[in-house]
Amino acid sequence: MLFDPGNDNNCIMLEDSQDFEAERARMLAQQIVDRGIHDARLLSAMSDVPRHRFVEGLYQKLAYTDAPLPIPAQQTISQPYIVAYMILELKLEPDDIVLEVGTGSGYAAAILSLLVKKVITIERHGRLVDFAQGRLAQLGYKNVEIVQGDGTLGHPACAPYNGIMVSAGGPKIPPALQNQLAIGGRLIMPVGRNRRRQQLSRVTRMGEGEFEQKSLGPVAFVPLIGREGWRSTSG
Ligand code: SAH
Repeated sequence: MLFDPGNDNNCIMLEDSQDFEAERARMLAQQIVDRGIHDARLLSAMSDVPRHRFVEGLYQKLAYTDAPLPIPAQQTISQPYIVAYMILELKLEPDDIVLEVGTGSGYAAAILSLLVKKVITIERHGRLVDFAQGRLAQLGYKNVEIVQGDGTLGHPACAPYNGIMVSAGGPKIPPALQNQLAIGGRLIMPVGRNRRRQQLSRVTRMGEGEFEQKSLGPVAFVPLIGREGWRSTSG
């Protein structure tokens, strides 16, 4: 059928036929590989996870753009590149157990689940727990456990963790999270005194009481709200 600009049906046809797989491949090439990330396991996981299924309505059309996008409860799904960068810095192995703080849509948890044995992910908003749970179940990610609560306290029941990925920004590294790291394990978190602008920080547990911290550059995440994070939802 020829494209007829005067016919509204053309637009509907174009929308319906949006090729998410091709967009995802382009996202990987342009936003991830071209920026220097070549880890084969990570690229394969990211090419498997349908980001458009972790956003709603009109945002699905924008799912493979180079940006964070709104999800329920005034939160955001992180930009694909930042998810890739954080996961890469965790240096994960297939037998690892990982803790994520800030499940949000469940997108990062889905990628992590393809890279390690078990993912525990904590979310404070019940609405997002349901949102992520539904999507992860529909898509068949089975090694992810979602816990509702304050992730600044971690999840001692399954500690120690080989990797901890904090997907929201706080004023300092919560001590409970550091202490739930395995020796040799890594924690990645946006840290800063401004609620909306942080430095991405990496902590490596070198020994029982020995931690090495490195700053990886400026980022902008939603605030980490909790006992060892920011106190309220204002600002
Ligand atoms: N990783 C997510 C994006 C997370 S946005 C994704 O892939 O979609 C950050 C999330 O952290 C938000 O959903 C927010 O509700 C949550 N959050 C903020 N403070 C928290 C806390 N103390 N414990 C658990 N979740 C928290």
